[in-house]
Amino acid sequence: MKYLSTRDKTVRMSAAEAIEMGLARDGGLLTPEAIPQIDRAFLESLVGERYQVRAAKVMALYLTDYTEEELLTFAENAYGPDRFDTAAVAPLRKVDGDTYCLELWHGPTSAFKDMALQMLPQLLSAALRKTGEDKTVCILVATSGDTGKAAMEGFADVPQTRIMVFYPKDGVSAVQEAQMVTQDGENVGVCAVVGNFDDAQAGVKRIFSDPAIRETLEKRGFFLSSANSINWGRILPQVVYYISAYCDLLRDGRIAMGEKVNFCVPTGNFGDILAAYYAKRMGLPVGKLICASNCNDVLTDFLRTGIYDRNRPFHTTMSPSMDILVSSNLERLLFDLSGEDDAQVRAYMEALAKTGRYEVSDTIKAALAEQYWGGFCDEAGTAAAIARYYKDYGYLIDTHTAVAASVLEQYREATGDRTVTVFASTASPYKFCNHVLTAIGQTPEGDGVALLDQLNRVSGVPIPRRLAALKGKARRFDLTAEKPEMDGVVLDFLN
Ligand SMILES: *Cc1c(COP(=O)(O)O)cnc(C)c1O
Repeated sequence: MKYLSTRDKTVRMSAAEAIEMGLARDGGLLTPEAIPQIDRAFLESLVGERYQVRAAKVMALYLTDYTEEELLTFAENAYGPDRFDTAAVAPLRKVDGDTYCLELWHGPTSAFKDMALQMLPQLLSAALRKTGEDKTVCILVATSGDTGKAAMEGFADVPQTRIMVFYPKDGVSAVQEAQMVTQDGENVGVCAVVGNFDDAQAGVKRIFSDPAIRETLEKRGFFLSSANSINWGRILPQVVYYISAYCDLLRDGRIAMGEKVNFCVPTGNFGDILAAYYAKRMGLPVGKLICASNCNDVLTDFLRTGIYDRNRPFHTTMSPSMDILVSSNLERLLFDLSGEDDAQVRAYMEALAKTGRYEVSDTIKAALAEQYWGGFCDEAGTAAAIARYYKDYGYLIDTHTAVAASVLEQYREATGDRTVTVFASTASPYKFCNHVLTAIGQTPEGDGVALLDQLNRVSGVPIPRRLAALKGKARRFDLTAEKPEMDGVVLDFLN
């Protein structure tokens, strides 16, 4: 299976090369040339298997230059008991008759990013071997809070890799910041950027596309790659858990084989819900993909009108990992829905860069309307969903998950659709103690990691082991940069 650039189909490479490169040189996203199909027999073969085996079998369909044994070894490393606090890895929790919550935060950093970022470093290390690359790869990450920590945790002290993380100075929670600035590992670096996530992401993209920086780094023995969800090695491990959730529903007799389920996903950069889309395109019986946004509702408007328009105020919310106005992975969806029309995708992306806006074709609009439903939820709605889940189900959910819960309710009211629905729970409530405490009627006492104990006292829910350990950890990083200074930070880091 080859991988193509969404902006130029003549750019073709192996999976290993695509994972190594992260982003195509032309700015396009590297995307599989065909979507492998699965059938009932394939799903049946997964039902009795552990998560790790499911992961290897699904990923092998796409990563044809890796062996299934290799992938199984990676999955055993990524999702084992030393990293994940439950053997199920991504357990489904029943909320009510037709609603299930897919808990994706049982990994080392308590956010769903671990599902992919425990896997990616292994895929990348293997890719360096497969392609005979002898330079050191430097991973540049722009993070809205969760990716940075999860990426550093995955890449810390992995040979032949360095990792530099940029996060928006005032755009992440206290726990998220504490997680990042205390990160261990000789090969890691962290820097706060004055600005929001889009500023950090734009800075990283600029560094990627700067030939002068590339050349300087090459002379020093480095090349740049990405651990953001633009890297195919991020998306693919996420496809697995949608298929796995379906298998769990089958195994537990909640649905019949072939019965459709909906997925509802709290969305920022469009990576997680894109993975659900690929699962559907592979032949998994999926009805609607419900795309949940916070007040940064650019995707809601897009799914309803076919017009993507980032010219709007940027809101800093209590679900910071979704505070995004440019959802990079939408480009892969457009590529697929346009019938792999690279010229059309290129034109949309050029318009986006120039004017901040584009309107898709009628064909794409029709496909979006059939497959997706978009909704958003404001700050009061987010808090209300946390309160209601806590009160009605005794279930403590985080601010991002609450956005999905709220939008799912809106969807059901608007459509009357009662199809079995799985919504993604993307972070532990302990990453956002302040807002979660307030939402359930408590007054936060103190701030930062001190609130972990308060939330634990009030709710009785155990604190994830590694978050509890933050309390005694010393800060290692204290660097802040203005956006234009990011280049210098990278050049210093790789000196
Ligand atoms: C990253 C993140 C999201 C958004 O996921 P995308 O793949 O960027 O759409 C939602 N919730 C949490 C907790 C996250 O960390």
